[in-house]
Amino acid sequence: MKRTAGFAVVFVWLSASIVFGAQALSKTGALKTVEILQGEVAEINLSAPGVVAAEGRLGNEKVYFYPGDHGVFAALLGVDLEAKPGAAKILISGTTRSGTPWATQIPLKIKSKAFKSESFSVAQEFDQLSPEVLERIRRERDQFARAFAVSAPQRLWARPFVGPLPKEITSPFGYRRVINGTPRAPHTGVDLKAAMETPVLAVNHGRVVLLGDFFYSGKSVVLDHGGALFTVYFHLSEFKAEEGSEVKTGDVIALSGMTGRVTGPHLHWGARMNGARVDPFQLIEKLGGRAEGAASSATKNEKSEK
Ligand SMILES: [Zn+2]
Repeated sequence: MKRTAGFAVVFVWLSASIVFGAQALSKTGALKTVEILQGEVAEINLSAPGVVAAEGRLGNEKVYFYPGDHGVFAALLGVDLEAKPGAAKILISGTTRSGTPWATQIPLKIKSKAFKSESFSVAQEFDQLSPEVLERIRRERDQFARAFAVSAPQRLWARPFVGPLPKEITSPFGYRRVINGTPRAPHTGVDLKAAMETPVLAVNHGRVVLLGDFFYSGKSVVLDHGGALFTVYFHLSEFKAEEGSEVKTGDVIALSGMTGRVTGPHLHWGARMNGARVDPFQLIEKLGGRAEGAASSATKNEKSEK
């Protein structure tokens, strides 16, 4: 860390009640380790007076740092539900007001989370796939990957987040799944109870970057909220937005349904943060939102400014 940039202090709010606060700088000048569970999101505030621009990296993924007041940069960090537990670090580089290159790093401790498992059966047509269907699935996986590869550099979202539907979870995030007797990929979103044609809300401001009808996820919408934060909505019956359109928090983007690989009507809601598949309810818990959709009252999760 260059002296010209002054101290760098990291504050991390992992929940409403736990504050990794002002005393984060150890005696050696290293930043305090951020502890984060698989599938979770942390808000990181990095105090770097004199620094005018900063950018982070976690592995191959970019972590966006946004300048705020008093030399504090804010970032959201997501850790994938299958991230390897153990030590990792966010490498941060930037420039001071005088043009001097500046760098620091935030040590991470990724902790494993105990996800439950469930077994269920799906129709054979979804389980015995023809070469044509396998080719379709591969093509669709690429479409999603391309949508997730480019995000608006600026934050489009603002507090608070809202739930897309009332919070009634029928299949939680991270469940390890056994389908037709075979272990499969974990559940990368949350299934919410939704009768056919229930309005599905945009959980925050963003842009529709993918909209289509896919083999597994049925009619699907992907929203880009900027800064590498995306939310996804699957198994819809009808779209109420168009690809490329801007949406605001609480806008009806679609009606729920049972398209794609499903056993009944519901909404699959998911979130991606810097490439990590995270529990979407983390956005509501960590960023001061409301879990019950637009109609209910807000539970603020405000940080105390230091
Ligand atoms: Zn699901």
